Amino acid sequence: MKNIIFEIRYYLLFLVLSVGFFLTLIFSSESSTNSVNENFNSREIERSNIDLEKFLPLTSEKEQTSNRTQIIYVEKNNTLIELLDKAGLSNKYIRALIKAKGSEKLANLKIGDKLEIDINRDQVPENIFLTSDGLNGINANFKNGLFSIGTASRQPDVLERFASVEIEDSLYSSALKSGIPDSVIMDMVYIFGWDIDFIFDIRPGDSFDILYEEYFLKGNQVKNGDIKAARFKRGKKVYTAIRYFLKNGEKEFFSIRGKNVEKAFLRSPVEFSYISSKYNLKRMHPILNKIKAHTGVDYAAPTGTPVRTTGDGTVSFRGNNGGYGKLIEIKHSEDYSTRYAHLSRYKKNLKVGDKVSQGEVIGYVGSTGRSTGPHLHYEFRVNGMHTDPLTVKLPAAKPINENEKDSFFKTAIEAMNMMDDYYLKLYAESN
Ligand SMILES: [Zn+2]
Repeated sequence: MKNIIFEIRYYLLFLVLSVGFFLTLIFSSESSTNSVNENFNSREIERSNIDLEKFLPLTSEKEQTSNRTQIIYVEKNNTLIELLDKAGLSNKYIRALIKAKGSEKLANLKIGDKLEIDINRDQVPENIFLTSDGLNGINANFKNGLFSIGTASRQPDVLERFASVEIEDSLYSSALKSGIPDSVIMDMVYIFGWDIDFIFDIRPGDSFDILYEEYFLKGNQVKNGDIKAARFKRGKKVYTAIRYFLKNGEKEFFSIRGKNVEKAFLRSPVEFSYISSKYNLKRMHPILNKIKAHTGVDYAAPTGTPVRTTGDGTVSFRGNNGGYGKLIEIKHSEDYSTRYAHLSRYKKNLKVGDKVSQGEVIGYVGSTGRSTGPHLHYEFRVNGMHTDPLTVKLPAAKPINENEKDSFFKTAIEAMNMMDDYYLKLYAESN
């Protein structure tokens, strides 16, 4: 009996131990997934310190005894020697630098460039970095009495930001109030601007979530923020956009289903203009004074206003063509072509057969041909038939490639989950 009790105890002990072991396993695996989330969250908190540093001077009194970085912006007619002298570098280093191989690259200063000089406690300039964007440039490294000079690039700290905004009065002011930088708001308007008319379609109560990155180096912002993902709720409709880097390195935004957010055509070939005459098949012609179909849209704009091709394509006509005056025709595909008429001139060297890309300037507004004043006459043809450019359903730009679909969907799901996590966190904090 004792033996059995002993054995039962033994089994119990074994059971407790093994349960304990499994619990440890489960907890450690859970805590490791937790720590992924924690890293993700703490990244924001940790890195938000950088923001504070931004307001600190680069050389504080404490730092005088250690390394300090001196930053000088290149102005007109500055020379490298002059700037190094101004930075307080002793003559022997300046001479050593000028003699070093490749110093001409460092001496090639452009207005607005930044020269960063790291000086150690012994007043030795350890690194001299010339850069225009703060990340890529030429670096001179001082070691064993010699400078070695070469190209260098630095990785910025990436700070992830999230904002959830309900539009009160205007999109712009509501977004600014949430601390979203100007350039990021503009990017978002561009990304969703293909589907949403931000002037007419937005109502108070519409909202959006946005996840974007900001880039810092030593506490200084080095370039504009970049949108990683966004979703816009307009009434009952939700629009999504996810940043994706294609295999060729190009950045594109696709919807959660892999549709390109951009369209194959711009809505208008002239910026800052107004429509002076719409597509109308029964219009009285102002010059001919008889019913003549108006098979395009007229944009009133001063002579010389740039005219952009609304889509990628090939120049299929460039020259005078009766009432059209100076005319350019772009063939976009078997089905689509566009025409730009009454131009004052064409883009220099533009000729038939040239490839043009969406938004590229191809000519300038004028009043050549049968025209009463400076304006652009714009036509949109589908299968050779005139179509109203203002109402035609524009085809989307190329969707995600078949062979990049899996990779894109992975990115998309990650980005959407991330936004949901941030959203819940924000919601929890505000309640
Ligand atoms: Zn017209």
